[in-house]
Amino acid sequence: MNTTANANLFCRLFDNLDDPSRLAIEMLDGVRISYADLIARAGQMANVLVSRGVKPGDRVAAQTEKSVPALVLYLGTVRAGAVYLPLNTAYTLNELDYFIGDAEPSLVVCDPAKADGIGTIAAKVGAKVETLGADGKGSLTDAAATAGAEFNTVSRANDDLAAILYTSGTTGRSKGAMLTHDNLASNSYSLVDYWRFTKDDVLIHALPIYHTHGLFVASNVTLFARASMIFLPKFDPEAIIKLMARATVLMGVPTFYTRLLQSPALTRESTKHMRLFISGSAPLLADTHREWFARTGHAVLERYGMTETNMNTSNPYDGDRVPGAVGHALPGVTVRVTDPETGKELAPDTIGMIEVKGPNVFKGYWRMPEKTKAEFRDDGFFITGDLGKIDDRGYVHILGRGKDLVISGGFNVYPKEIESEIDAMPGVVESAVIGVPHADFGEGVTAVVVCNKGADVDETSVLKALDGRLAKFKMPKRVFIVDDLPRNAMGKVQKNILRDTYAKIYAK
Ligand code: AMP
Repeated sequence: MNTTANANLFCRLFDNLDDPSRLAIEMLDGVRISYADLIARAGQMANVLVSRGVKPGDRVAAQTEKSVPALVLYLGTVRAGAVYLPLNTAYTLNELDYFIGDAEPSLVVCDPAKADGIGTIAAKVGAKVETLGADGKGSLTDAAATAGAEFNTVSRANDDLAAILYTSGTTGRSKGAMLTHDNLASNSYSLVDYWRFTKDDVLIHALPIYHTHGLFVASNVTLFARASMIFLPKFDPEAIIKLMARATVLMGVPTFYTRLLQSPALTRESTKHMRLFISGSAPLLADTHREWFARTGHAVLERYGMTETNMNTSNPYDGDRVPGAVGHALPGVTVRVTDPETGKELAPDTIGMIEVKGPNVFKGYWRMPEKTKAEFRDDGFFITGDLGKIDDRGYVHILGRGKDLVISGGFNVYPKEIESEIDAMPGVVESAVIGVPHADFGEGVTAVVVCNKGADVDETSVLKALDGRLAKFKMPKRVFIVDDLPRNAMGKVQKNILRDTYAKIYAK
């Protein structure tokens, strides 16, 4: 879908602005950036990039803390026709060595404190280095401040790359997902419509901007709608609750919602100005959904997406937002569930592999043609790696990553089913079920459980409560009570860490 002659995402974000003086971004320190400012800054940034030798199609890698200049770097890169490559701020030099070596950017932007280490890595691929600190200062912003604001947005086709985002890669090497201008633009248009964004919306933006959620879903949707966003450097529950008095939408990962629920300041009154709470990137517990509704009167709208596909499904704006379900396929997107072995489409309510097709689906993995081929079906569907089902009302339910499936004694055990049973027990906060090598069964079902402080829950009581509710082969062989589950920055439970921790418990 392209409505302008130049398919560059930048043109589609900003062409036909009716009121350039509208507020686009505000910071809590009082900084306010209008749409006209943002466009001018992106022009200055694009001029600096070109002056540093960045050409259309070149990669610009950025490991930068969240700030307005960091967002401007994304916009300026796209405007210059180059490919934006954001990197998680937690990556170490050792990890950066892989990403930079693989992507071969022509420019790397990083915190001044890391410039020496990254300089050595960048030199290996002939990349230049510029700096941008958490305070928004560095050689890059210094140069941009004196650069001209006029810039002719480089012409791009729908299928040209706008960004490469590396997947979090909990197994094997992280892969660079190649996203085109049309992947990003089409998905943002669709979400603006589906979630009824208008120029009157004010988004509380508390997500990191190195990930698809904060970078594309939150920022692009806001800008497409000509709405504004309040940019918070990080998640801060008390600040967020205060902002709700003048904001309208929050996008968060499930951890945002569980943490916000811990604050007594979260009430019907404090959320009454808000129109929409959106959750994604990891499963929102059905209990959290219900508790949020009971406390605030708002039903959280859960959606499902991934780095490779942007957003695939969403609960409806009007209509039932079903706890534990991720809603319907977005307009233009087709979702199906297939037999993982044969690829044959399965009947409603049958668990299988979730596959997706649509303008949102990425072009492939950077420099991995074999891997790309292996993850697409011949008819163009992308094999997400998520297991799930579609119920008879068309709602998609996710039952976990395929690689998290436990096969015990030859039987498939879907962790989510057992987790839901455990989570429903009094005193339990949440749980994670994993498969651990087992001499007799291949894998032993193992539950790791977090309880409320002082709750009277132990291995015996969990097993007793499950007895009779689950088939014998699904019963955990061991239950461990822990204080917290390991999570990454997007709130996803890191089952690979749990599998390592408990790897030897059934060893003979
Ligand atoms: P990422 O590429 O980091 O965005 O991770 C994508 C993965 O996160 C998906 O393949 C799902 O496994 C998971 N995910 C995203 N949204 C949801 C959701 N609403 N419920 C359950 N899992 C989700």
